[in-house]
Amino acid sequence: PLGSNSPLLHNLNPEQLAAVTLPAEHALILAGAGSGKTRVLTTRIAWLLQTGQVTPGGILAVTFTNKAAKEMMTRLAAMLPVNVRGMWIGTFHGLCNRFLRAHYKLANLPQSFQILDTQDQLSAIKRLMKQFNVDDERFPAKQTQYFIAGCKEDGLRPNMVEARDAETLKKIEIYQLYEEQCQREGVVDFGELMLRSYELLRDNDPIREHYQRRFRHILIDEFQDTNTLQYAWIKMLSGHGPADIESGAALRHAPGSVLAVGDDDQSIYAFRGARVGNMADFVREFNVTRQIKLEQNYRSGSNILDSANALISHNSKRLGKNLRTEQGPGEPVRVVESPRDYDEAQWLVDEVKQLVRDDHERKEIAVLYRSNAQSRVIETALFNAAVPYRVYGGLRFFERAEIKHALAYLRLLENANDDTSFLRVVNFPPRGIGARSIEQLQDAAKAAGCSLHDAVSSLGGKAGTNIGGFVAKLDVMREQTAGQTLREIIELVLDHSGLVEHYKADREGADRLENLAELVNAAESFVSQEGFGRDAVALPVDELGGGALSQSPASQGIDPNLATDDLPPSYIDQDSGETLSPLAAFLTHAALESGDNQAQAGQDAVQLMTVHAAKGLEFDAVFVTGMEEGLFPHENSMSDRTALEEERRLMYVAITRARKRLYLSFSQTRMLHGQTRYHIKSRFFEELPEGALKWITPKQPGFASGMGGGCSGGFARNSGAGSEGYASARGAFNAQTATFASPPVPPQKAAPSHGLKVGMKVFHNKFGEGKVQTLEGAGDDARAQINFPRHGVKWLALSVAKLTVV
Ligand code: ATP
Ligand code: MG
Repeated sequence: PLGSNSPLLHNLNPEQLAAVTLPAEHALILAGAGSGKTRVLTTRIAWLLQTGQVTPGGILAVTFTNKAAKEMMTRLAAMLPVNVRGMWIGTFHGLCNRFLRAHYKLANLPQSFQILDTQDQLSAIKRLMKQFNVDDERFPAKQTQYFIAGCKEDGLRPNMVEARDAETLKKIEIYQLYEEQCQREGVVDFGELMLRSYELLRDNDPIREHYQRRFRHILIDEFQDTNTLQYAWIKMLSGHGPADIESGAALRHAPGSVLAVGDDDQSIYAFRGARVGNMADFVREFNVTRQIKLEQNYRSGSNILDSANALISHNSKRLGKNLRTEQGPGEPVRVVESPRDYDEAQWLVDEVKQLVRDDHERKEIAVLYRSNAQSRVIETALFNAAVPYRVYGGLRFFERAEIKHALAYLRLLENANDDTSFLRVVNFPPRGIGARSIEQLQDAAKAAGCSLHDAVSSLGGKAGTNIGGFVAKLDVMREQTAGQTLREIIELVLDHSGLVEHYKADREGADRLENLAELVNAAESFVSQEGFGRDAVALPVDELGGGALSQSPASQGIDPNLATDDLPPSYIDQDSGETLSPLAAFLTHAALESGDNQAQAGQDAVQLMTVHAAKGLEFDAVFVTGMEEGLFPHENSMSDRTALEEERRLMYVAITRARKRLYLSFSQTRMLHGQTRYHIKSRFFEELPEGALKWITPKQPGFASGMGGGCSGGFARNSGAGSEGYASARGAFNAQTATFASPPVPPQKAAPSHGLKVGMKVFHNKFGEGKVQTLEGAGDDARAQINFPRHGVKWLALSVAKLTVV
């Protein structure tokens, strides 16, 4: 081929070489994970440029995430001295944004139009529905949001949607109003970015022809996850849109050629409208004669690859591809079981540290999880161990809006003059305090040179009464929480602030309620196990402004074996003698954790992300955490075959991210939605080849180290043990914690026995009568396995479930 002695073409296998040097025709590369699809796509761009077949401006390359786009530009820049920034390489949204910025007038947008993310979009819809008195029981905002996004993905404006029934008619009406509101405010949502650029291309012949002439080569990675509109957009740019088809062969220019690259087994966005069928449509509509398969995997050894292949073979409806590797078996896939999510995180941190000691770069280590909510425990553990990390996609826990609201109330309890917090929640949840009143207050505070809080008393009229009410509420909360534990304080504040009620009333507030419950968990563990003492040693002293907190309980000479109740309620600053309340300490922790602790750009950091966000990426070592039924596969998909197959593809993506080392980990219990849940390991383990796996027992700490006798060993499933048995199990728990934690954490006093025995009959409000089968744990961790004839066997946390003996 042209330039066949170019070093670019060295190190390609024959199929890859053929793909890189394809003539300028439409083509499809369909191949499994790690077979070099992205590498081929990038190399092809370089080769086209180097051989002078196209100028940088003639390339349009689309990838799925910003991280992947960056990666592509980096790889390209390493191959050729070319200004990659000027090239059209990016995500669909990124490229459409660029296009609309260039043609904002024609697109009827203000030059500085702002982009609404999904959350902003939802708030905008809610605001509008309130304004127009739309019944949000009948038309939940989130459903309306899906409706609007779906319409846009199908290229439909309000006047084009078929009004099948009264319900749809109403939704169309809201869609129309929403569009008007966005237009008025000069904002566009993600769907609008795509749709508006599509329409501009469709309706404006000169613009369309300009870009058709310009983009000689259109290359799309991860094609299996394109949706209808994205595919239509590509057709438009490559002369296959409706207008071009009408004019038949009369196109005044030869349209550019399209190279689509994908893997049907990695289609993981069906839930967001991706159409794997676009691949077959592409072959048909573009008369694709060249289809290239790549069958050699260059990423991983055969243990990892065999695992991936065996897993995905359980799916039906596959296009069918083979993958082999010449790398030999490589390391086995390590499987790790932990008693609790907390232990899983601790184990993970230890393992990460070991990898780093063994000269692995941190950015070559990825921690993957199925849902964003799982990241908190891991983030905290990494944070406490001072391991730099970076979270991709999704907000970090302490940056989520509802958490920030809750923290603002808590801050105001500590410091009434915190104006930022004051403004954040003075009218949240909404209590009829208008912008006008707030302005008045701000003026008064400015004039008097005092805080907003202090200026309230000088404010008269309705504003004074309303805001005065808010301040009074804070004062009451402050009084009520005096002397309470951190957990009690937070629970009271969540309740009395109206936050819980607010999100409960919001039909879409379930996630946020979950996060608020998670905040209580975070505080709880901050005080009891992970946080309080440990932060004290893990944080550099100067971050805390002087010596505050620099003394851990252990170094203050407190016997680590004392029960929690005997610990002093606050920590004493050795310099000033001042005490810091647990609340203040926790707020510091939250602020630091949300602030700049996250690794600086360019700093070598462990990579945290959902499996979805990891698509297309690769790392030396990959941890897939939370491999439990209900988490992965996700509980929403377990009863539906199609959804389960998507979960399996997601697992396939997760496994195939690893180059050298893969860990699959799961935990027997997990704090979720504010309570301990008992999980069994994921069904996906049954689908992996046993020979490729290595089951690693979690490090069993020696708990004989002065932790009180009678420990019967680890997290034993000591069914039928009496109440002393629970106490020992609890002791073992703490011993384990103590070994991980530094300084050791005192064991908690075993709570009094709940009096249950195996074989007893009990009554539960929801499940009715049942029989106790197994009892485990003690105190807050006590749990029972109960057989309810009408509801099956359930694990119940006894500190939460209300059971009566019958
Ligand atoms: P995914 O489906 O996960 O997106 P992919 O098919 O895009 O994977 P790449 O990311 O392009 O695969 O390649 C996987 C790894 O294999 C990369 O590290 C790449 O550099 C390497 N690789 C690809 N082809 C070769 C080759 N011919 N020789 C050596 N290494 C190769
Ligand atoms: Mg790829």
